[in-house]
Amino acid sequence: MSCPNCGGEELRFPIPEAVAEYLPDDRPAATLCTNCLAVAPADDVPDEYPDFTRVSDAFPADGETGAVLACLLALLDRLVVHREDAERVATEAERRGVDVLLFLDRLAGDPGLDPQLDVERRRRQLEQLI
Ligand SMILES: [Zn+2]
Repeated sequence: MSCPNCGGEELRFPIPEAVAEYLPDDRPAATLCTNCLAVAPADDVPDEYPDFTRVSDAFPADGETGAVLACLLALLDRLVVHREDAERVATEAERRGVDVLLFLDRLAGDPGLDPQLDVERRRRQLEQLI
């Protein structure tokens, strides 16, 4: 599979139950581009969470927590529409021990990525919510 946005490799992951209700799409899985970080809903659910550290070292080693952060990226892409949901998903990530703002800082500073969304700008907007 390759990303329709940039042609990069995609990781497919199950949507964690803890955040499923906050996503605008009710499909059970999604893909994350390892290059531009675009997230798209998917129907086929993989058996396991992938290794998100392949995308960036900013991701935690725990795959399910990585999937929560990937869901957050999807919401940040349309933060104006999904403010409250983004806040809830960020809270879930924090509950799992992730410093969400630090995570976004590290993503923004990762030279191996070419994010389609303005990570630094979204980080500043999210900072005002949480
Ligand atoms: Zn891409």
